Amino acid sequence: MTEQRIEFSATGCPEVLRLVPIDLPPPAAGEVRLRIRAIGVNYIDTYHRGGLYPLPLPSGLGVEAAGVVEAVGAGVTALVPGQRVGLSGGGPGSYATARNVPADLLVPLPDDIADETAAALMLKGSTVEALVERCAKVQPGSTVLVHAAAGGVGLLMVQWLKALGCTVIGTAGGEAKLALARQAGADHLIDYNHEDIAARVREITGGEGVPVVFDGVGKDTWEASLAATAVRGLIVSFGNASGPVTGVGLGALAAAGSLFVTRPTVFHYQRDAAERAAAFARVFAMVQSGALDVRIGQRFALADAAEAHRALESRATTGSTILMP
Ligand code: NDP
Repeated sequence: MTEQRIEFSATGCPEVLRLVPIDLPPPAAGEVRLRIRAIGVNYIDTYHRGGLYPLPLPSGLGVEAAGVVEAVGAGVTALVPGQRVGLSGGGPGSYATARNVPADLLVPLPDDIADETAAALMLKGSTVEALVERCAKVQPGSTVLVHAAAGGVGLLMVQWLKALGCTVIGTAGGEAKLALARQAGADHLIDYNHEDIAARVREITGGEGVPVVFDGVGKDTWEASLAATAVRGLIVSFGNASGPVTGVGLGALAAAGSLFVTRPTVFHYQRDAAERAAAFARVFAMVQSGALDVRIGQRFALADAAEAHRALESRATTGSTILMP
């Protein structure tokens, strides 16, 4: 069977993405051949494609998928053909009909987590788990600011924080997105296309600011995040949807209130099999308890990956985006 994957041999606009046939060898020792049933699209894919996060070229794309174990390489005993599994990470290459990946990166899926849900959740849900529970160690009952609250990570984060008993202030662009964030549980909404984020946060918090800000927007919201954070508060700057944050002098943190800043990547919170297993057990439990409703806002065919990227980068998406092989 001829397999196909999305590949690019030069960085640039979505047009660089091509669906190409590939010869997939049998899985090597320690590897599994994953038959991919649904693929998660993530903002990081656009950083890879555009060159912000450089990769050796030509390269595949995509770090989130769900599917079925089709074959196992020598030494793989924990997984068997036919088993449903999810993947977060493994190096870009999940925009494909099948791929070989190290067996220890694959997570068995519970029966009640559908393929599409898993594809929309593996990276994004585990990012929320890591950032909320282990990075920021958000305290139940605290008030938290979440930027891009109607996005893939954003909607999951709002729901997770609500499940912890937090008050959530969400930002998003436009009425429709604000309505989605409200549905997910956000208590206060700020349309950052028109409103002054920090002024509104100060108003909502009686002048105090918030103890924790989750900022995946980056360049465009950085100054507002600084100005909205309470004294000795924490900014978790975890992405660059509007461009990277650069050139920050440490003095700015003192001036803004002796703030803490971290720039995490989820993979540093899943350093071994035990951490990974614990993280995904927690993510799946949040879905199974009903605390997380995984919203798939749009679906594209694998061949239309470029179109999916255009939608994501033009802020036309809500919730998670998936590709169907
Ligand atoms: P989203 O679905 O959140 O899409 C990005 C959203 O950002 C847009 O919908 C848009 O919402 C908002 N945005 C604000 N300014 C811009 C801009 N100039 N261009 C484009 N979008 C803008 O994406 P994901 O859920 O995939 O990812 C969210 C963030 O989380 C990203 O920064 C990503 O890199 C990061 N991330 C980080 C991880 C880590 O380990 N550090 C892991 C996973 C994700 P609106 O229209 O409401 O402004």
